[in-house]
Amino acid sequence: MKRIETSPSASVLKNSEPEEFDLVILGGGTGSTVAAWTFAGEGKRVAVVDRKYIGGSCPNIACLPSKNIIHSAKVVDYFRRSKEFGIAHDGFTIEMSGVRDRKRKMVAGLNEMYMENYRKTGAEFILGSGRFVSPRTVEAALPDGSTRQLRGTNVIVSTGTRASLEPIPGLAEAQPLTHIEALELGQVPEHLLVIGGGYVGVELSQAMRRFGSKVTVVDRNGRLMSREDPDVSVGQIWRIGEFRRLAEWNGESPKG
Ligand SMILES: Cc1cc2nc3c(=O)[nH]c(=O)nc-3n(C[C@H](O)[C@H](O)[C@H](O)COP(=O)(O)OP(=O)(O)OC[C@H]3O[C@@H](n4cnc5c(N)ncnc54)[C@H](O)[C@@H]3O)c2cc1C
Repeated sequence: MKRIETSPSASVLKNSEPEEFDLVILGGGTGSTVAAWTFAGEGKRVAVVDRKYIGGSCPNIACLPSKNIIHSAKVVDYFRRSKEFGIAHDGFTIEMSGVRDRKRKMVAGLNEMYMENYRKTGAEFILGSGRFVSPRTVEAALPDGSTRQLRGTNVIVSTGTRASLEPIPGLAEAQPLTHIEALELGQVPEHLLVIGGGYVGVELSQAMRRFGSKVTVVDRNGRLMSREDPDVSVGQIWRIGEFRRLAEWNGESPKG
């Protein structure tokens, strides 16, 4: 009987043929998801590759988690000042793990909302680490060890932001928290040293201060939030009193 030879090289070649898309996006953050949903909604074949986050930094580890925690901190501050508002209470405790759980719940909800948008528009979200293997072709290494090759008529590189450490001697060895770990704290730090008084450092500082931490901000510039216009910098916040009130507060929570 004549054997039909299947050429292994031919089948390997077939399997390694890239999948074709109108648009391939590397990095699924704020910068690119709207493009993905818009083009997919218009009937284009769209794939988004992200190695870690559904929705990128903003909903997972940056803008929205920080605002969630700041909101809890604000509630603490109102509690502390409740007498000013004519409300008596018998003291309170802060459970940072509860603050963190509330934030995690919000993040999970946002992830689900993003996935719903992917489903609704027909854009494909691929969890995997991407790299270019040829022009306009991205290889995604998937969590199960397999790979997919995706070729786009158009490709958007939107690999965005990441937490990084300044090359300050000894800093890396000290294993400091970046904003990612700071937004995952299960306890209020007794004393938080914040290196860098940009908006991320200032947001975190005022929130932790409201939770009861002693906070020290170190900044090498002439004023806090030096990259912002002077009228929104802390110089202005100080004048309107809020930052000063937090700085001067002695850490005692009124009882009753
Ligand atoms: C604490 C904090 C608070 C902030 N608050 C605000 C705010 O209130 N308002 C505001 O406007 N901005 C805020 N920002 C800034 C904002 O988060 C960023 O500007 C924004 O998220 C950048 O979006 P992006 O899409 O460019 O990148 P990202 O959201 O970082 O997305 C890039 C994505 O690419 C993925 N990626 C990278 N390389 C690869 C690869 N090789 N393969 C696969 N995937 C890859 C990453 O996993 C990531 O998900 C804040 C930032 C921080 C840190």
